[in-house]
Amino acid sequence: MKIRESIAGIRAYVPGKPIEETAREIGMRPDEIIKLASNENPLGPSPLAVEAMKEAAEGVNLYPDGGAVALREQLATFHGFTPENIVQGAGSSELIELLAHICLESDGELIAAKYSFTLYPLMTQLFGAKYTEVENKADFTHDTAAMLRAITPNTRLIFITNPTNPLGTMIGQEEIDDFMRAVPEHVLVVFDEAYIHFAGEQPDTLKYVREGRNVAVLRTFSKAYGLAGVRIGYAITTPAIAELLHKARSPFNTSSLAQAAAAAALRDAEHLKHSVQVVRSGMKQYEAAFTELGLEYIPSHGNFILVKVGDGAATYHYCLQRGVILRPMTGYGLNEWVRISIGTMNQNERCIRLLREMRSH
Ligand SMILES: *Cc1c(COP(=O)(O)O)cnc(C)c1O
Repeated sequence: MKIRESIAGIRAYVPGKPIEETAREIGMRPDEIIKLASNENPLGPSPLAVEAMKEAAEGVNLYPDGGAVALREQLATFHGFTPENIVQGAGSSELIELLAHICLESDGELIAAKYSFTLYPLMTQLFGAKYTEVENKADFTHDTAAMLRAITPNTRLIFITNPTNPLGTMIGQEEIDDFMRAVPEHVLVVFDEAYIHFAGEQPDTLKYVREGRNVAVLRTFSKAYGLAGVRIGYAITTPAIAELLHKARSPFNTSSLAQAAAAAALRDAEHLKHSVQVVRSGMKQYEAAFTELGLEYIPSHGNFILVKVGDGAATYHYCLQRGVILRPMTGYGLNEWVRISIGTMNQNERCIRLLREMRSH
C-alpha cells in the first residue's frame, strides 16, 4: 500500500474528553459530569432549532440540498451579502480544510499565531505545506506586524483568530486595518471568528470581503448558537473564492438536519443573547474567584478562560476524577495553565470549588 508521505507524520487532533468516556472511567453517571473543555453552549441549542430538526428528521430519506440554498440565502440577507458570497461547511473546521484544499500544496506556507487552533497546523501538514507560527505579543494578542514580516512569496494563507483560542485575546479594528493595508494580494487572509459573538466590540472584517480583497471570514454555529453536534458553519468571502471552495467540498457536505437547525437558530436572536449573557456573567464569576485564589488569568473575549494553576496536568486530573472535564494545555507547552469553558452558574461554582479545594491541600 502506498500512502501520501504527508499523512504519516500527522499527530491527530485531540478533542476535549467526552462525557460518556469519562463516566465509564471514573464510575460516575454521565449526568453527574460536566464538560467545560470544548467551549460548548451550556444552555443547549435554541428550542426553535430542536423543533426544526424534529421536523427535518421526517425527510432524512432524501439527500439534503447540496447547495444549502435556503440557508445561504438567509445568511446572505442576515449579513448583507448575496448567496454567492456564502459557503456552508460541516462546522468551520471543514472550511479550514477547504481553504487548505484550494491554497496549499508542498511549496505553500500557512502563517498563524503561536497559540492557535490546533487544526491549522494539522491541515497544513495534511497538504504537505509549511507551517509558520509567529510568537504572540507579551500581552498574548496576535503580533500582526510580525505576521506580516513572516510573509514570503510562498505564503498562501494567514489565519487571524479573533477572539483567539485558546487565549481568549483579541485585536481591534485599527490593528486589523493596519494589517489589511500592508498584506500583499497573493495571500488569502482568513479571519476565524468562531467566538465573535462573545466579544464586546466586533471589528468589521466583512468590509474587506465587500471591497473584493482576498479575505474569508469564518463563522460557526458550534459555539454561541449551541449546535456543535450537528456540524454547521460558513465562510463569507468573495464570489471568486466561494466558487473555489464549492468546487473543493463534497456534494452533500452539510446534512438536512444541520441546515434546518442553523436556519432556525439564526432566527432565535433571544437564545443567542441569553447565551452571551450567561457567558459574560460566568466570566465575572471566574475572574472574581481567580482573584480571590491568587491565580493569574488571561482576560478573555471568548466563552472560555485560560488560568495559571501551577500544574496544569495535575489540576486537569484532579477535576476529571471529580466529574469536571477541563482542557489541559500541555499540547501548547502551556503546562502551568488549563482552559475552562464558561458553563452555567452552578457548573462554574462546582469547578471553582474544586480549584479552591485543590489549592488548600
Ligand atoms: C471551535 C472552533 C472552530 C470551529 O469549530 P466547528 O465546530 O468546526 O465550527 C473554529 N475555529 C476555532 C478557533 C475554534 O475554537
